[in-house]
Amino acid sequence: MNMMAYEFDDHLLIVDCGIMFPDAELLGVDIVIPDLNYVRENRDRVRAIVLTHGHEDHIGGLPYLLEEVSAPVYGTPFTLALARSKLVEHDLAESADLREMRPHEPFEVGPFRVEFIHLTHSIIDSGGLALTTPLGTVIHTGDFKFDPTPTDQHVSDLHTLADYGRNGVLALFADSTNVERPGLTPSERAVSQRLTQIMTEAKGRVLISCFATSMHRLQIVADLAYRHGRKVCFVGRSMFQNSEIAMQMGRLHVPPGLLVPPQDLRKLPPHQVAIVISGSQGEPMSAMARVAVSGHRWVSVEPGDEVVLSARVIPGNEKAIFRMLDHLYRRGAHVHYDDGSQPPVHVSGHGSAEELKLMLNLVRPKYFVPIHGEYRQLWRHLEMAKELAAVSQETFLLGSGDVLEFDEVEEIILKERRHISADGIVIPILAINEHTGILETQPEIVSRGFVPLDEAPELVESARQVILRTIEKSNLEEVGDWGVIKEKIRTALRKHFNEETGKRPMILPVVLEV
Ligand SMILES: [Zn+2]
Ligand SMILES: [Zn+2]
Repeated sequence: MNMMAYEFDDHLLIVDCGIMFPDAELLGVDIVIPDLNYVRENRDRVRAIVLTHGHEDHIGGLPYLLEEVSAPVYGTPFTLALARSKLVEHDLAESADLREMRPHEPFEVGPFRVEFIHLTHSIIDSGGLALTTPLGTVIHTGDFKFDPTPTDQHVSDLHTLADYGRNGVLALFADSTNVERPGLTPSERAVSQRLTQIMTEAKGRVLISCFATSMHRLQIVADLAYRHGRKVCFVGRSMFQNSEIAMQMGRLHVPPGLLVPPQDLRKLPPHQVAIVISGSQGEPMSAMARVAVSGHRWVSVEPGDEVVLSARVIPGNEKAIFRMLDHLYRRGAHVHYDDGSQPPVHVSGHGSAEELKLMLNLVRPKYFVPIHGEYRQLWRHLEMAKELAAVSQETFLLGSGDVLEFDEVEEIILKERRHISADGIVIPILAINEHTGILETQPEIVSRGFVPLDEAPELVESARQVILRTIEKSNLEEVGDWGVIKEKIRTALRKHFNEETGKRPMILPVVLEV
């Protein structure tokens, strides 16, 4: 899944290291991690790993990466907290060098100046990166949407994006997930409306299943439960762990006395219970899947209970999810899932077409590379950028493992100047009859900073012979195409001068039309 290496000179900076959960086609495979061969071969050059946010497809592979390289890991506080609990499981937490980064506090990694830019997403503490090098700034968006009313009031930092855009951005690498969706992605607030409706009308238990990293949703449910006189229970290992982390960090606010442990649930009447439970993708061993088949120790579903699947149906998981929903219907539950009804039980964390356009228009990069999407989505994002004319130079559609290199134009000019100052410049001047392709006079040869030609008549004569032979051996078409004949003369003279003098002057043939 997501992992990118940015390099400058001898310095390599890695952005994200995610895992992917395999679909049914990959039998017997538990997780898919990025191909780490390149990193392994270049481990001495890795200066830092920077995490954009705490989703599995961005940090899940971190333990495997840290087994190969030792470099500091930068992340926002919540992202690092999730990463840390992952490293604990792999016994790597002690050795890992985790460093907090915050918005508006740029830091240096070798030649990179890294600035974290807060952007809204379905997880808190998420954002993009501005990587400034002597060659220019690259903006890497991470996953984002422009939610004007996030539950934590922490809106996207459009100002910083615009500032970078105004100062000139070399390249933009942007999330393409929802490029096919027109308009704007609804705010997290939309989910709050629907959950309010459900909670207000509910007679029995309310069970809400979402990703264990969706602190926005956990907060919404905790607030609603408090208002409706229900106790809250976080069920499932990841749900319990992540909510604990978020509460300790002050990022999830639950009034004292609101939380109950799972073993106390049976003591409460159903209308006083709100459960947030993991397993929204129908994973067979997850808490929600076990509840659906009455296989959970503490939690059960009875007729009249409300069950909400507040998550996207990830393609490939449809069968498992709908089988689970069927079991819940059999138990008499009212089931709510992402079936297009409004207000939604789930909103995407990724920006739709208009938000992607806004990103392009704010950043207005020289070069653009769509990332994070299937091929068709990258393609459509590329088309969008071309239509907007927001990209001044070029767009690139890259696949996994592809390499994109930006050269420094200034560097080339300096190289040429160095070249001229060391070996000089030679200008052969030819007068060619454009109708016959025949040289009208002997070629003239002028030089600066090369061997003084006045003192080397044999060299001038031999160079003339080289030019004459080159023209003789070329056909009329070639002689008529000055670009071609100039290049042939340049190549032949370069070889000749190098053999005769050991120097490699810059050769600039001039053809006069007569
Ligand atoms: Zn994400
Ligand atoms: Zn992602």
